[in-house]
Amino acid sequence: MTQTAPAPASLVGGGDQPNLYIGGKWVAPHSTKRLEVFSPATGEKVGSAPDADSVDVDAAVKAARESFDSGVWRSKSPAERAAVLRRAAELINERTADITGLVSAEMGASPTDVATLQQIAGTGVLNAYADAVDAYEWEEKRTGLFGETIVTREAVGVVGAITAWNVPLFLLCNKLGPSLGAGCSIVIKPAPETPLDANLLAEIFTEAGVPEGVISVVTGGLEAGQALVEHPEVDKITFTGSTAAGRHIASRCGELLKRCSLEMGGKSAAIVLEDVDLPSSIHMLVFSGLLNAGQACVAQTRVLVPRSRHDEIVDAMIETAKTFTPGVPSDPEAKMGPIITDKQRAKIEGYIEKGKAEGATAVLEGGRPEGLDSGYFVAPTIFTGVTNDMTIAREEIFGPVISVIAYDTVDEAIAIANKSDYGLAGSVWTTDIDRGVEIAKQVRTGTYGINWYAIDPASPFGGFKTSGIGRENGREGLESYLEHKAILMPMGYSSQT
Ligand code: NAD
Repeated sequence: MTQTAPAPASLVGGGDQPNLYIGGKWVAPHSTKRLEVFSPATGEKVGSAPDADSVDVDAAVKAARESFDSGVWRSKSPAERAAVLRRAAELINERTADITGLVSAEMGASPTDVATLQQIAGTGVLNAYADAVDAYEWEEKRTGLFGETIVTREAVGVVGAITAWNVPLFLLCNKLGPSLGAGCSIVIKPAPETPLDANLLAEIFTEAGVPEGVISVVTGGLEAGQALVEHPEVDKITFTGSTAAGRHIASRCGELLKRCSLEMGGKSAAIVLEDVDLPSSIHMLVFSGLLNAGQACVAQTRVLVPRSRHDEIVDAMIETAKTFTPGVPSDPEAKMGPIITDKQRAKIEGYIEKGKAEGATAVLEGGRPEGLDSGYFVAPTIFTGVTNDMTIAREEIFGPVISVIAYDTVDEAIAIANKSDYGLAGSVWTTDIDRGVEIAKQVRTGTYGINWYAIDPASPFGGFKTSGIGRENGREGLESYLEHKAILMPMGYSSQT
């Protein structure tokens, strides 16, 4: 395990990575197991990485602990840490082609989609976290019952970051930004489906000025994830993934009294009002459900439409959804990438069959597109006649499947939107913006859009109900990596005298 190996010449475009990035060095893994990465668009091999075991995780956590305790990073000024985050964002942008190419190869989405949904969004959050670090009140004086107190904010310690595969670059930026901004050391455990870009990001952050040992990457699956959660030297787990896995991780963190924040699934509702301007809204409305081939936690996959305009809206949705042509990343005409795995595609197809069996009508059923047999493609599907108690309206499908639910009154639409175990996102589509804001306030979700949906890098993002615990982005995201400390000054002491 202590043996070190040279860094690979380049990870660009994948390749077989023999080693793990631990404590700023490329280290031969203890585990002999490998993660093989195949493009879900073409079936071609993209690369491979070690499938780290608990011994590897222990080495990474020890490196993180040592670097944290040494103060090499956390004792730098907030301004210095913010500058490193900004530099990392610049380096990511300088290497756009490398990074979007690698992520596109891993997950099959087009480089343009990766640039928009991940690179611009990822560098956006890094810059926003840098701003939050600069603006944050790291220390304040308060006067209370006993006189003066200094309240300081300190890094929470060693962070274990576990992420999903659907927008891997963006998710990692959203873990690296706040944890490094706060002064923490971090061990990243990326999804086993998309392990390669995490190494590239760690290299970039090191080049930007993060000291050796502060960032480690354990590419791996369940064993590595569980080892990170269970490790006694990890102070906080930050998780992005399914609600099922998050529930389990939260229960373990509860048992271990470990800090934990969770970003999990969603089943968001888009409420279309009677006064919607359909021509200007329709593309964004459908895109909000189909983005990333529906593999988005915030996808607006329940579309609530007024019965009075039902048919007109559905017809427009069908025409628009047909323009989301699936294709491989190298196809400039492709508007939608593949599903990440064959297993995930089978799950989506199972939901489509379940929708029909429960009485919904597939007014558009894309199925498996012709000529793309080497990848795991599913073209868009739209169901009408859906009621909110059907499986397809309750469960997160994580694929390009939209359920249209008709309503009679706006109060009924709000009640339908709220009748969900999830509470991540939502949107309202109307020409009356004030009314849109009123509706936004009545829907129990962490974020909401009016006539579009997006994640704002400087504003809190996260879930109500089973969609999450805690917030990412902006000041709130930074705070979830901080401890608050009160230092009581001597009785009668005053810094003013
Ligand atoms: P997943 O829960 O299967 O896996 C996510 C990560 O957790 C992976 O790295 C996996 O190896 C690890 N993991 C799984 N079980 C674990 C355990 N018991 N202990 C430790 N680690 C464990 O999710 P997925 O299929 O990779 O991703 C899809 C899900 O992610 C969807 O539900 C989606 O909504 C959610 N997601 C949420 C957000 C958000 O910000 N709310 C963003 C992206 C994706």
